[in-house]
Amino acid sequence: MSENYGRLHVIAGCMSSGKTGELIRLLSRHAVIGDTMVIFKHSVDSRDGCKARSRLGTEMEARVVSGPAEITGDDCRVVAIEEAQFFGDGLAPKVRELLAEGREVYVTGLNQDFRGEPFGVMPALMALADELSLLTAICQRCHGVATRTQRVVDGAPASWDSPTVLVGGADYYEARCPDCHEVPGKPEGY
Ligand SMILES: [Zn+2]
Repeated sequence: MSENYGRLHVIAGCMSSGKTGELIRLLSRHAVIGDTMVIFKHSVDSRDGCKARSRLGTEMEARVVSGPAEITGDDCRVVAIEEAQFFGDGLAPKVRELLAEGREVYVTGLNQDFRGEPFGVMPALMALADELSLLTAICQRCHGVATRTQRVVDGAPASWDSPTVLVGGADYYEARCPDCHEVPGKPEGY
């Protein structure tokens, strides 16, 4: 693709921190100069179908895939991957492959899971990044600076031992600051 090694920009943050909006802003700069690009999102993240959609109302076409093996740069100079935490450890070698091909790679994802623990492949990608944007949100409880993702199941905070990804459950997520973040059953020292 290119003789030069590529570049990785990771956009991390909690729920409602504007990661997709920031991704679209960054990609729109490439669109201005006519760079070819493709956005991938995981089939687990089924909201919005084949779109990467921000709360600002901006959106771009996305390709839905079920794992890292389906990610290919094709002829695109710029490759973006949304919600990287859903992809598993196989995403890190895939991103390195894209970089070795000289592509510009953008990745968004939750850096912490609902427990406040490093989320899946995200820590590895953040360590490999050439540029890192760590976004914050506003705490839905106290209006402080939110860095964590609160998971609520049936109206109550999700306990430490509930599964990390619960598909189709009666749960929702909201941004919280560390003081308002609740995880019943959290072990001592976490
Ligand atoms: Zn708070």
